[in-house]
Amino acid sequence: MKIKQRCTAQQFMTRHLQQHEQGEEYAPLIHQPILILGAGGLGCELLKDAAASGFTNIHVIDLDVIDLTNLNRQFLFTTSDIGRSKAEVAAKRIRQSFPHVKIEPHFCRMEELDEAFYTQFLLVIGGLDSVDARSWMNRTLLNLYRGGKVDFPVPFIDGGTEGFRGNARVIIPDSTPCFDCLGYLFPPQTKFPMCTIANTPRLPEHCIEFASQILFPREFDRPVDGDNGDDIRWVYNSASSRADKFGIQGVTFHLTLGVVKNVIPALATTNAIIAAVCTVEALKLVSGVGATLNNYVFYSGESFNHTVEPFAVNSACETCQQRMEAVTLPADITIAQWVTLMDVKGLAVTSLTVNDRPIWFSSGMVACDTSMALQSVVGAAVMDVTTAGKESVRLVPRFEAAV
Ligand SMILES: [Zn+2]
Repeated sequence: MKIKQRCTAQQFMTRHLQQHEQGEEYAPLIHQPILILGAGGLGCELLKDAAASGFTNIHVIDLDVIDLTNLNRQFLFTTSDIGRSKAEVAAKRIRQSFPHVKIEPHFCRMEELDEAFYTQFLLVIGGLDSVDARSWMNRTLLNLYRGGKVDFPVPFIDGGTEGFRGNARVIIPDSTPCFDCLGYLFPPQTKFPMCTIANTPRLPEHCIEFASQILFPREFDRPVDGDNGDDIRWVYNSASSRADKFGIQGVTFHLTLGVVKNVIPALATTNAIIAAVCTVEALKLVSGVGATLNNYVFYSGESFNHTVEPFAVNSACETCQQRMEAVTLPADITIAQWVTLMDVKGLAVTSLTVNDRPIWFSSGMVACDTSMALQSVVGAAVMDVTTAGKESVRLVPRFEAAV
């Protein structure tokens, strides 16, 4: 049975307890396996908090190795650990401090572990900085529940930090907004307009971008490798000369590294606060002592403010809301014929976009000649369609081989 309303901590716990009462063995929820994603800045805090709060069966995934620059905040590591797996070293340190905790590290990408692996967890706590990885986890947990692979939705408590700011949210598949419902909260990565970089640089960053995006590829016929010290030095030197030419101050090696690698500033204190919020949410889920966060908290260390937002499900969310359908179409069907065909099939199409590119609108605004073959504009992409009922549908086309 799927829950249609929000699953509160109380409901989550009661549902689990009911199942255990019917079964033979009963393990308190706090001793059931939980998964922590990432053993970096947030991850170290999450692991310590979870172990100290009574969770005794913890898995941790991280594909990264320890770097010198991690040590100021990733307190489970020391200089002698540099180059070793974050997940493995973190697990070892947690075991030393909390010998009763069973902790299993996974030194790999999340995608390398199969569906069955993820079904064992009571809940997942995320301490990742990659939006793509968090979105992947969100989809995986949603699919597990919708596909009937787990009896209860597996909550995903997602933490994120950037400098002084952080956020935490509780995502319960099919009960709360999913991770991608609020994708608009992540602004597209700030890139400077190319004309500014090339013609009217005003900031040290503009000079660095020019050196790394234009001068370096021109000189070496390849992109800059952010992990190669020689590359960074070359970019730094070129950016410095350019900055001198334009009378711009502030190009440093450190800034060059930050701009090229798109480094997100990290504060140990923000990580500690967000990890604490996430752990409290996990504790509420396993104990039922309080209602879980509904459903998103923003924290700002600059103003020392926090705001809780009860976000709603985004009806345009491509992950949890949109219908996806496979369609088989004749190889030579034109855009106009396709519209008619869809009409006949009862799907009164009002717009078609492909990869965000408008192709056809019923309002008469046409971006493509409607006598063109649909296949030539769609290729292998997914067709995003809106219908007269204002519903959005994603069509996965398969064009029949031409005769
Ligand atoms: Zn969604």
